[in-house]
Amino acid sequence: MSIAKTFVAEALTRVVDRATQMCGAMGVSEDLPISRIMREVRPFRIYDGPSEVHRWSIARRAVRNAGKRA
Ligand SMILES: Cc1cc2nc3c(=O)[nH]c(=O)nc-3n(C[C@H](O)[C@H](O)[C@H](O)COP(=O)(O)OP(=O)(O)OC[C@H]3O[C@@H](n4cnc5c(N)ncnc54)[C@H](O)[C@@H]3O)c2cc1C
Repeated sequence: MSIAKTFVAEALTRVVDRATQMCGAMGVSEDLPISRIMREVRPFRIYDGPSEVHRWSIARRAVRNAGKRA
């Protein structure tokens, strides 16, 4: 679950960030919906647990599973 949450939240912000860049100044203006979408999408990397905490949890599970195999 942590892998999916981190991957999707980060992919979404990358996509919206690219859209902003492609549109230049218009991308950060209120003339297009992109800045609003970015405001809505950016918290995804925080409110269901920060990406750093998900990465920590993924790493802990990987280390535990590696220990079981050894
Ligand atoms: C719009 C919104 C809606 C929310 N809805 C809910 C909800 O419905 N239910 C609910 O329970 N909570 C909700 N929250 C709270 C959310 O879960 C917390 O904001 C989130 O877990 C981060 O906690 P924090 O804000 O105290 O940040 P902190 O824990 O202070 O973290 C701040 C930053 O420190 C870093 N960090 C923290 N811990 C580590 C670590 N172990 N290793 C490395 N870096 C770390 C990260 O970069 C992190 O972004 C919501 C938050 C927002 C913004």
